[in-house]
Amino acid sequence: MSKGVVYLVGAGPGDPKLITVKGFELIRKADTIIYDRLAGHRLLAYARPGAEIVYVGKSPDRHTLSQAEINRLMVEKAREGKTIVRLKGGDPFVFGRGGEEAECLVEAGISFEVVPGVTSAIAAPAYAGIPVTHRDCTSTLAIITGNEDPLKEDSGIAWDKISTGAGTLVFLMGMANLPDIARRLMENGRSPQTPAALVRWGTRPEQRTLVSTLENIGAKAAEAGLKNPAVIIVGDVVSLRDKLSWFEKKPLFGKRVLVTRSREQASVLSEAISELGGEPLEFPTISVVEPEDHGPLDQAIAELNTFDWIIFTSVNGVEFFFRRMRRRRRDIRELYPARLCAIGPKTREALEKYGLLVEAMPDEYRAEAIVEDLKGKVKAGDRVLLPRADIARKALPEALAEMGAHVSEVTAYCTVAGRGDAAMIKEMLENGEIQIITFTSSSTVRNFVAMLAAPDLKRFLSGVTVACIGPITAGTAKESGIRVDVVAGEYTIEGLIKAILKHCGF
Ligand code: SAH
Repeated sequence: MSKGVVYLVGAGPGDPKLITVKGFELIRKADTIIYDRLAGHRLLAYARPGAEIVYVGKSPDRHTLSQAEINRLMVEKAREGKTIVRLKGGDPFVFGRGGEEAECLVEAGISFEVVPGVTSAIAAPAYAGIPVTHRDCTSTLAIITGNEDPLKEDSGIAWDKISTGAGTLVFLMGMANLPDIARRLMENGRSPQTPAALVRWGTRPEQRTLVSTLENIGAKAAEAGLKNPAVIIVGDVVSLRDKLSWFEKKPLFGKRVLVTRSREQASVLSEAISELGGEPLEFPTISVVEPEDHGPLDQAIAELNTFDWIIFTSVNGVEFFFRRMRRRRRDIRELYPARLCAIGPKTREALEKYGLLVEAMPDEYRAEAIVEDLKGKVKAGDRVLLPRADIARKALPEALAEMGAHVSEVTAYCTVAGRGDAAMIKEMLENGEIQIITFTSSSTVRNFVAMLAAPDLKRFLSGVTVACIGPITAGTAKESGIRVDVVAGEYTIEGLIKAILKHCGF
């Protein structure tokens, strides 16, 4: 049996992209991932299918598994010969009990490696525009636990030295003791006027920052109801925030945006949302699969050289069409006599990847616009192939037939309901944790409604901005009883993002 190994991996402070490349690669190959509350759970989506994922959710006042039980679990899994990622928030060796876990592995004779992470002690201030050191302010930094009762007689923290001994003080786990920490620092010589800040849920869409002075920070936090997980930053560097704040100024900062497209298609939209400072949440309402009956598509592929036009109306249409050609061992050159039309730039790009150039592309990405564009190009009697989704609208083939074309409409792929976690989405909507929902086709709307199965859908969506890629999708949403706030003027992902930004005042 191969020997197991445990990787103590730092997940970073919350923004999933702040994990190291090494940590990310290990998540993708681990047999078992053991994680806790602060270790960005969005990273778990990258675990390989079949990986075992164990939540040992520690929070300050509740231990799902005790530390001894976590240690035992790691040892047990490693003895089974597994590759284990012990995923820890921030850096595993900064107040994460990573040191204790490593010791236990050594004692049990288990191999381990440490993959450092970006600690919240530095990243949360950075995302609030606070550099923890700066030549003009300080060149010393202390990272301190705020978990320990500051009034304890035999404190492990030398308050007399630390209060003035380091320019910047960063406390983790300190919110419950904040007033006492501030008092201790002042009693030991730190000026009450020292700038102080709190950053809660740093690097995440929920990030909240509060700035005050050492003297007043406790009262201000209480007033704002600001609790853990937060870092406390004390020192002159805090004043740099006025000038350096950046994350909180991003257009979609603070917004969690639901992406309802299929998993394969979600990435472009998700990326754009992340870049704008928002958090994409993927809830695939659609899964795209091969048709059960390949007959009509195979028939069309067999007669390829008889078509005058092939019209592709989606990237999926292109991908499934050529996948089937490969499977049937048909050469792409058999397309030769046909002229190609793409519904929009993405579909055109998909064709160009195969080295195929399109002769027609409408200015607007709708079936009606294709017809307009093809008038004069498609002649009466032309044979037109339309490889599409099983549920595609009839407007296009009907209009082509009116132009006198012989249309072969074949199913290249089918859309079925996705398998996103509807219960989780409902709960998040209920808690106001989703700010924007995007719909990129009528089927995303229909499936979303069906998957949520909420008779009181209106209530769930009352505080949420609903954004649709175009008027047809918006129409479907309205028919389903969903209020639509944003409709893209240009029916593409870029157009949708533009419209959302405009709605948000950018
Ligand atoms: N190993 C972790 C710290 C674990 S202790 C690290 O290196 O970041 C847990 C404490 O970390 C919390 O109480 C809080 O003070 C801080 N923390 C973790 N993630 C945080 C975040 N995203 N924003 C602010 N503070 C965070």
